[in-house]
Amino acid sequence: MSVFDHPEFDHHEAVHFFEDADSGLSCIIALHSTALGPAAGGCRRWQYVNSTEALTDVLRLSRGMTYKNAVAGLPFGGGKSIILAKDSAPKSRELFYAFGRAVHSLDGRYITAEDVGISVDDMQVVREITPHVTGVSEQSRLVGGDPSPWTAQGVINGIVASAQHALGTRDLKGLRVAVQGVGHVGYQLCKLLHAAGAELIVADVNRENLRRVTEEFGATQVGIESIVGADCDILSPCALGNVVNQQSIPMIKAKIIAGAANNQLGRDEDGDLLREAGILFAPDYVINAGGIIAVAHEHLGDATENEVRDEIDQISARLASIYAQSDETGESTNNVADRLAQSIVSGAANSDSRLIA
Ligand code: NAD
Repeated sequence: MSVFDHPEFDHHEAVHFFEDADSGLSCIIALHSTALGPAAGGCRRWQYVNSTEALTDVLRLSRGMTYKNAVAGLPFGGGKSIILAKDSAPKSRELFYAFGRAVHSLDGRYITAEDVGISVDDMQVVREITPHVTGVSEQSRLVGGDPSPWTAQGVINGIVASAQHALGTRDLKGLRVAVQGVGHVGYQLCKLLHAAGAELIVADVNRENLRRVTEEFGATQVGIESIVGADCDILSPCALGNVVNQQSIPMIKAKIIAGAANNQLGRDEDGDLLREAGILFAPDYVINAGGIIAVAHEHLGDATENEVRDEIDQISARLASIYAQSDETGESTNNVADRLAQSIVSGAANSDSRLIA
């Protein structure tokens, strides 16, 4: 199948494929839109069943970054990169040097950072090759470094706004929150939820990550196949995408879905199914923007920690306005958010064409 015929291809400006025989790097960098600025979005390293699955992921994730950056009011477009994890090509300096050369060849049209499977240390190695990388502590003059605590801060702000809308309370004390995936963001989110008095139910494929949240925050463990249907008030997907779909929705007992994972819905229409089921969905790219807000300002070098915190605080108001509009029009919350993002991007594209004319 050609990339242009791929069901997730959505007028992406460019899709680049890179291979480096010496390090074993195979990677895809997708630039969905640069209408608002250079395409910014993290790098994911994951073992895919095949390269088509990787392409699907990078196309969806890069479009999500366009929407995320637009709604967050950042001067960046949307892009994403995928490194195909292979047993024959484990993480190494050479691998990240090769990735750095791939990013550098795009001449600043793509700015990378951490995502699933990538640490700050990995990005420090990429930084030795190219300046087009953020989420790197060494470069953070004012704010930045690991984006996950900032993402978690935005998610808990969004959980409070969602609880206010769906449950009539801003107090998380005693609420049961099921967190799927307790890695970088999930761990930080559990810490904040525990401090707010919430009860935690958790699942992860990584035993060490599970042990940490169980010991530190008294979380209850359930199996990975049970977490989506856990008896809880709030389901917080913080692992991978496509967890909310036609098959899983009938099992969901939560009244709210609010988490960090990108592309939580299998299809856009699943947002309508949630609405019909009376489940409030926090559009993922709105609630999980805290990390990109922090690393974007790290890259621009234009904000203090307090200013970034204030910007992340706005996630609550943004969600409240999306929820109010969804109630008014009967549209799903994800459709309301998509229209908002599309209007911001097309507004920028139109003003660009006026400049050229
Ligand atoms: P991570 O790799 O540190 O954590 C993901 C966790 O999910 C890991 O502990 C992994 O073992 C677990 N996991 C994988 N498959 C699972 C399954 N089937 N069931 C349960 N657990 C499973 O990644 P992260 O940086 O914490 O990101 C988590 C999600 O949030 C991703 O979707 C990412 O794209 C999104 N996100 C992250 C950031 C950030 O700042 N890191 C920002 C925005 C969005």
